[in-house]
Amino acid sequence: MSLTALKCPSCSSAIREPDIDLSRGLAKCSYCGSVMNLTASFGGSAQGGGKREPVALPKRMTFEKTLHGIEITRSWFTPVVWALVFFCVIWDGFLVVWYAMAFTAGAPMIAKLFPVIHVTVGLVLSYYAVASFVNKTHVTLERGILRIAHRPLPWPGARELAGMSLRQLFCKEHISRGKNGVTVTYELWALHDDGSTKTKLAAGMELEQALYLEQELEKALGIQDRPQPGEVPGRA
Ligand SMILES: [Zn+2]
Repeated sequence: MSLTALKCPSCSSAIREPDIDLSRGLAKCSYCGSVMNLTASFGGSAQGGGKREPVALPKRMTFEKTLHGIEITRSWFTPVVWALVFFCVIWDGFLVVWYAMAFTAGAPMIAKLFPVIHVTVGLVLSYYAVASFVNKTHVTLERGILRIAHRPLPWPGARELAGMSLRQLFCKEHISRGKNGVTVTYELWALHDDGSTKTKLAAGMELEQALYLEQELEKALGIQDRPQPGEVPGRA
C-alpha cells in the first residue's frame, strides 16, 4: 500500500509530515529548504484543511498588466536597511578620519595602503545601502519571455528566459548567519523542462513576496499548481 505524499519540487525528496504546517498552508523541504504553498490543488480536499488562500499583493510590490503581459515589481527597501545605513556611516566615517590623519600627519605608506580592503567593503556596502532605497526588481512576462532586471542602479542578476522552457517555479529558504544573528530570506527558483536545470530568478525576498511572485508567474505561465503529488511507500 502507498500513500500520496508531497514531493519537493527542487530535490524530489518526500516531504515529511512534521514539515507540513497546515495552519499556515505551507510545507518546507527539510533537505533543501524549498517552501511549498499548499494551494487548492492539493491539501484542501485531501487533507481536510491546509488550503491556503491565494497570496494577496504584499507590501512593497506592484502588479500591473502591460500591453503584452504582466509586470511585477518589488522594492528592495526593508526596515533592516537602516541598520546597514548606520553601519556604513560608522565604517565610512572611520575611514575618512583615518585617511585625513594618514595624509596630514605624513604617516607611513602602510597607513595609506592598509585599509584598502576596508575601503572596498565600505564602497560595496554603501552602494548596496543606497540601492536598497531606490532599486526595484522588475519581473516581466511578455510574449512568453520572462525577464528579471534590477533598476535604476546597476546590479547583477538580470535574466531572460523563455517561459515555455520552465516546468515549475518554487520558493527556497536562504539562511545567512552573520554577526547580528540569523537572517532568513526567500528566493524564487525555476526548474527547467529537462527536470534538472535550475535558475535562481530572484532573491532577498520576504516569504509572502516570494510566494506571491511564484503564484502570479505560475498563473501567467500556465504552470500547474504545486506541489505535485507523488507516490511514496507507506509506513508499516
Ligand atoms: Zn527539497
